[in-house]
Amino acid sequence: MKKIIIAIDGYSSSGKSTMARDLARRIGYVYVDSGAMYRAVTLYALRNGMVIDGKVDSEALIKDLPQIEVSFMPAGSDGVQHTLLNGEDVEKEIRSMEVSGMVSPVAVIPEVRHHLVALQRKFGEQRGIVMDGRDIGTTVFPDAEMKVFVDASPEVRADRRVKELRAKGEDVDYDAVLKNIRERDYIDTHREESPLTKAPDAIVLDNDNMTIPEQMDWLLSLYEKRVG
Ligand code: C5P
Repeated sequence: MKKIIIAIDGYSSSGKSTMARDLARRIGYVYVDSGAMYRAVTLYALRNGMVIDGKVDSEALIKDLPQIEVSFMPAGSDGVQHTLLNGEDVEKEIRSMEVSGMVSPVAVIPEVRHHLVALQRKFGEQRGIVMDGRDIGTTVFPDAEMKVFVDASPEVRADRRVKELRAKGEDVDYDAVLKNIRERDYIDTHREESPLTKAPDAIVLDNDNMTIPEQMDWLLSLYEKRVG
């Protein structure tokens, strides 16, 4: 069967990562979480004193970009794919509220985007890939054969994110998470370089009232159509 590229874009915490990962597993494709790559670069900036009073020292970060390598370790017994920053497993750290709070300002820096988009395109060279993010269908793979744009209300997304973080043992406040989601939505949709927007040929999936199995059925039927 022909291998295609599947781009899943949408707002923060819309459930895209879970559905992209599960879909890739079902159809035997490689899954790439592009948001994890922006989070890893953000962690690098935080660790190296490049965030001062909530502001990113973009000059210093741009200088270091050639030495920032982000890769993935295939899912192990926990079923989770781990993100590696220069070979170090940073999967847990990149999901913290500290990183979530700084990731969108880091992701507006054009040089950061160019660096990561080049890496993302390399992952797609052999096709047979599911990638989720904000600009996958518009910028990274405009020629992707299947494009999905996931939408859900900020409140539903905040509720999901709180449950996910609490399940991981993080003590989080619903209002703080909702505020972070709204801020990221605003920055992601208003930035100059590849803002979050639906590709004209993307199909919208509004998953406010859908269960995970229902979303999977929806995705699988679209995939069947695309591979003919
Ligand atoms: O998907 P996730 O919420 O982990 O992404 C974290 C942040 O990374 C987003 O809020 C966005 O600012 C940025 N991002 C991006 N482009 C992508 C993926 C993520 O700008 N393709």
